[in-house]
Formats: sequence, C-alpha cells, structure tokens
Amino acid sequence: MPSVTGSDSPTVSIVVPIYNEELVIEAMHSRLLQVLVPAGEPFEIIFVDDGSRDASPGMLDSICRSDSRFKAIHFSRNFGHQAAVTAGLHVLKGACAVVIDADLQDPPELILEMLAKWREGFEVVYAQRSARVGEGIVKRGTAFLFYRALGKLSEVNVPLDAGDFCLMDRKIVDLLNSMPERNRYLRGLRAWLGFRQTAVTYERPARFAGVTKYSSRRMFALAIDAVFALSKTPLRIATWLGFLASGASFVLALAFIAERLFGSGYIARGWASTIVVVLFLGGVQLICLGVIGEFVGRIYDEVKQRPLYVVGSSTGFSRT
Ligand code: UDP
Ligand code: MG
Repeated sequence: MPSVTGSDSPTVSIVVPIYNEELVIEAMHSRLLQVLVPAGEPFEIIFVDDGSRDASPGMLDSICRSDSRFKAIHFSRNFGHQAAVTAGLHVLKGACAVVIDADLQDPPELILEMLAKWREGFEVVYAQRSARVGEGIVKRGTAFLFYRALGKLSEVNVPLDAGDFCLMDRKIVDLLNSMPERNRYLRGLRAWLGFRQTAVTYERPARFAGVTKYSSRRMFALAIDAVFALSKTPLRIATWLGFLASGASFVLALAFIAERLFGSGYIARGWASTIVVVLFLGGVQLICLGVIGEFVGRIYDEVKQRPLYVVGSSTGFSRT
C-alpha cells in the first residue's frame, strides 16, 4: 500500500514527460512536493516515461508505489515529447492540468502563479520566456527566429516564446483530447482553441542536470511540424513562385519577339543564362514537389489512424 494516498478528484494534475532523466528525477520530485504540498490543493502527478533506457522507469515506479498522488505511464518505446504530453492529457483527472518539463527548466514555483490566474477565470495560462539562461547562442537564436517566423506564417496567433509549460482548464484538456489529428504541435492547438488565455513571464533557467533530449534534428522536425500544422502558406508560396516564373517567361518572350522584329536579330547569346534558367526552374519545381510531399505525408499519417503512442505498462492507476 502507498504510504501517502491521493484524492480521486484532484484540483490540479501535473503532466511530466520523461526521457532518460535519471539525473533530475529526485530533484524534480522534491521541488514539486515543496511547491504543491503547502498550496493545500489536492493534486496528482503523472509521469509519462517516453521509453527511457536508463534508471528512470524504476525510479518513477518506486515514487508511485510509496505515494498514490504519483502515477506513471511507460511507453513501449520513445514516441517523442508531444506524444508523451498527449498521453498525460488523456488520463489526467484534475479540474485543471499543468504540463511541465522534468529538467526543472520550467520552475515549479510558477504553478502557483498559474493557479491564481486560473481562479481569476483564465482557461489557459502559458509561461512566456523573457530570457533563456544556459542555452547556447544557436538554440537561443534559432528559437527567437522560429517563433517570429511562425507568427508571420501561422493562421492562428501563437504567442511568442511560449513553450509547452502551461496550465489548462479541464475544458481545454477535453477539447484537445477530442481533436483527432496525429501531428500534435500542442502549443499551436492550444492557441487555436482560443478562450481566455494569458501569460506569466519567467526567465528560463538552465537544465538542472543531464543534456537536452531534443537534438537539432528533432528541433528542426518539430519546427517543420509546427509550420505545416498551422499554415498553408508553404503551398501558397509554391503558387506564387509559379506565377513569378510564368510572368518572367512571358516578359522574356515579348522581349525576344521585339528583338526579332526591331533589333539586330542576334539573340543566340547566352548558353550560361539558359543553363541558369533551366536549373532555377528545375529547383523551383522540386521545392514545390517537396512542399506538396510534406502535406501528402501528413495526410498519409492522418489516414493511417495509428495510435499516437503505445503504453507498455503503468503504475499507480486504479484498476478502473
Ligand atoms: N522528452 C520526452 N521525449 C523525448 C524528448 C524529451 O519525453 O523524446 C522530455 C524530456 O525528458 C523533458 C522534456 O521532454 O522532460 C523537454 O526535453 P528537453 O529538456 O530535453 O528539451 P529542451 O528543454 O532542451 O528543449
Ligand atoms: Mg529542457
């Protein structure tokens, strides 16, 4: 039997995605308790172990066995951060939910501020970074540019510099859970839903320990997912490039006719310019095909209707 028992209808459920975080679990566990216990609200904490290969799964299970406010879901393999958060949202019971990283880059103390805003009537309270500490110039620079480019491209207003760290009302969680799409860029979906949303700002500290689990390749994939989930602009750019190329060819045709009629008649000049034009058009066509391919690939993912994640085992959930 667990030595501490939790409530069946907690006020707040905390979702913590975890991938190989053995170095931070202990510190994260005690920081969360330090913040949540004095607050006096019933809470549950759901660890979603995203196929960790280190000691994390065992550490999480032993926390859950001694304290029934903690629950753990173990994926059968690594499905990615967004899938892990989605799984947490599927099972939580709270009147509101907080999504927080395990590495203490999202300070748990901010949860109290978020709860206060929620009580004021906001359905979404997201944490906005006013500065980032301990992250390299490349990460800070690309993140800065990405959020601004996405702001321009996206059809919904996605707040700048806000990650997944947020509090959401039960209503928002239910709506997110009812959205069937596979490509889950949660910050985008959250913004798309609307309702009353507000920010709390904070300075994002460095990771408590360990290294980032988001490689540059994964960051890039997430950025591409975000753009394609929130915008049809890439397709529109393809159309505009098409117009541009045909407009240019029309002007060139007129110029050649004029040259033939009124000029010296010598037009068999540029071999180099021909090659450049042919390569340019070939490039534009391939890029446009790539853009269409990105959308087709995503449509394929949606049509297959595979589950977003597979749960291998879980600890701390009642049998019902
Ligand atoms: N994470 C996860 N699955 C993954 C990658 C990351 O569940 O495939 C978790 C990770 O354990 C952490 C959170 O997602 O709790 C954010 O990851 P990380 O801190 O590595 O990303 P960063 O803050 O560097 O962007
Ligand atoms: Mg982090």
